[in-house]
Amino acid sequence: MSLHGTYDDDNIFAKIIRGEIPAVKVYEDDVAIAFMDLFPQGEGHTLVIPKIPKARNFLELPGDYIGSFMQRVQTVAKAVEAALKPDGIVITQFNGAPAGQTVYHLHFHIIPRWEGKQLAGHGQSGQADPDDLEKVAVRIREALS
Ligand code: AMP
Repeated sequence: MSLHGTYDDDNIFAKIIRGEIPAVKVYEDDVAIAFMDLFPQGEGHTLVIPKIPKARNFLELPGDYIGSFMQRVQTVAKAVEAALKPDGIVITQFNGAPAGQTVYHLHFHIIPRWEGKQLAGHGQSGQADPDDLEKVAVRIREALS
């Protein structure tokens, strides 16, 4: 799918927002939801998505929403850092299929990195056990509280 197109109300993240499918959430307010990536590239891989605007990618996020949304991205990134004590954190985001995007509701990836620890490639990992994700999520939630 290209950079431009129509927002699909039935994309997987829209379903998570509506509570139609489960997600291991670590944060939710009126602006954003953060949850564990079900196919994590590494331990603690977390996604942050805007809750209200139907933005397929960052270019479509209304300007007056950027400040509040990015503040949530930073809040969650700080909690991931506090909870998991990584050596570094990748914060990334893909726009359009040629850039690597596979889900067409805007999302930021927060991916902790540790020295000497390999990371799976984007879209290369298998499905995680939700119980294992929950064990990490509980630590991130604690850091947020
Ligand atoms: P992207 O490829 O940048 O569009 O990222 C989409 C991300 O969503 C990938 O990292 C997937 O592993 C992740 N993902 C897909 N389905 C789910 C799901 N049901 N719950 C949580 N994460 C998901």
